[in-house]
Amino acid sequence: MSKIEVMSEDLANKIAAGEVVEKTMNVVKELVENSVDANASIIKVELIDSGVKQIKVTDDGIGMDKEDSILAFSRHATSKLKSLDDLFNINSLGFRGEALPSIASVSNVTLKTSNGKTGTIVEVEGGKIKEVKSCDLKKGTTITVENLFYNTPVRLKYLRSLYTELANISDYLNKMALSYPNIKFILINNDKELLNTSGNGDLLKTISNIYGVEVASKMLFIEGENDDFRISGYISYPELTKGNRSSMTLLVNNRVVKNNDINKCILESYHTYIPKDRCPYVVLNIEIDPFLVDVNVHPTKMEVKFSKLPDLLSLIYQVISKRLSVKTLIPKAIKENIEDNYYEDKVNYEVNSNLYNYSSTPKYSDEVETEKKEIEEIKFDFDTNSQEKVEDEEIENQEDPRIKDMYPIGIVHGTYIICENSDGMFIIDQHAAAERINYEKYYHALSTHSKNTIDVLIPYKIELPSNEYLILERNFSILDRLGFKYEEFGTNTLIIRSHPTWLPKYAPLEAIKKIIEVIVNNEDFDEDKFNEKVSITLACKMSIKAGDVITMPDITYLIEELRKTKNPFTCPHGRPTIIAYTKYDLEKLFKRAM
Ligand code: ZN
Ligand code: ZN
Repeated sequence: MSKIEVMSEDLANKIAAGEVVEKTMNVVKELVENSVDANASIIKVELIDSGVKQIKVTDDGIGMDKEDSILAFSRHATSKLKSLDDLFNINSLGFRGEALPSIASVSNVTLKTSNGKTGTIVEVEGGKIKEVKSCDLKKGTTITVENLFYNTPVRLKYLRSLYTELANISDYLNKMALSYPNIKFILINNDKELLNTSGNGDLLKTISNIYGVEVASKMLFIEGENDDFRISGYISYPELTKGNRSSMTLLVNNRVVKNNDINKCILESYHTYIPKDRCPYVVLNIEIDPFLVDVNVHPTKMEVKFSKLPDLLSLIYQVISKRLSVKTLIPKAIKENIEDNYYEDKVNYEVNSNLYNYSSTPKYSDEVETEKKEIEEIKFDFDTNSQEKVEDEEIENQEDPRIKDMYPIGIVHGTYIICENSDGMFIIDQHAAAERINYEKYYHALSTHSKNTIDVLIPYKIELPSNEYLILERNFSILDRLGFKYEEFGTNTLIIRSHPTWLPKYAPLEAIKKIIEVIVNNEDFDEDKFNEKVSITLACKMSIKAGDVITMPDITYLIEELRKTKNPFTCPHGRPTIIAYTKYDLEKLFKRAM
């Protein structure tokens, strides 16, 4: 019996031929998904010039008989889908039948296939079948697409650069490999191997094949469920991040999808663990009743919508933030040679090796840049008196410290505190550590609506430009909520008579100005976001800076306080507060241990 059936007119109309073959990446996608649907256990993709000259996909799947292999090139034939509703009945991957004729109409295609009994070779040029012959072949299918777009100069013009195409294809195959760890994926471009997964069914092994051993060794397994959803997968230690979201893979019932809300939620669960513009490595599979996925979305973009999205997001947030809160996350100073841009390096090397010319001038993070610019000398915010209340409460609901006690040895470059304990040697960034401590202190005071206030002897007068004052005026309720006592005075001027006790004692006016700045610059956000923003701003400005001179007792106090924080590992901007040279690292460095 023939496996390919003629697709309904309705579905055929919904798939414009052009959509399928806009990019070489889409051609690869169609061919690879055909192979997955054919139950392949090995899928090999060989490209010449990112696929523009040649795309060859070989699999060991069920193959086709002669009848099907000819039918595969006629429009409106599909072996899998009969209606759009089938799309998310996850056993099929997408729009089959339409794809091959579309691809064949703009290229030269050779199909070699065998179902284990008969082998067939079909040659197609510009959409027309040139030759069909029978021969002996191994079970499986090889499709070779040559000179893609040769007869369509307009489309060729719109092809993006070879590098972008290859990067897209590589990213796509990585994600396919992550969704099918039991299939071996091989990607080769111009004889250079870019991907070769083990296909042994182990997701962590696949992660290692794609991102390198170093990344795989720093992944945490997660799982959790509620009434409608079950999630599982791996998330990276916060120290491993990338500058874009390609490191985050979302699967729904093992199918690669995109969803912005979920991406945002994942980033939110890492909040203050990683810098704002960085993304963790995540492979997250969501198991779900297909009825809860909205199929009314664009098929080639893999974007999906969920019913009960809030439930799903809160599950993801809980599972990730809980996992991060129970793990010691001090990054080790000594790393393996394989870096987190392992696979990009391969792609870059392949197409554009010039992209990776490292300059010898160090690049600083935005935060450090601003910090360096600041001349103002602000003192250490650790006078014990101002802390007593907050501190006591925190000790009560705090579990054991997440870092072991350590003993300070000294300070390097006026910034890095060297410490030791039986585990090894630790380096603490004095600003980052102080910032984390102050951030949690301010955030706690703000979110518990601590209403203790102090009257000021001489009221502060704050004058603003009228546009800013207008915004502030509309948000007086925020000042009320924070416990300020104030009155309007003349034009665009505010008199502050008392302020919350948690403001730093030595520079309250400075802090008040910062709070007003946050109000004026961020007109509409919810209370929690506002509290966080204020806490981060104040913590950064009010904490000891790099280069500030501190004494040994200050250092001891800093370490003590850092150990009491909920997340002692990163500053609120996501930079590390502490890094480790383990005893073993040191022994290795001095060749005492091999
Ligand atoms: Zn800072
Ligand atoms: Zn910071």
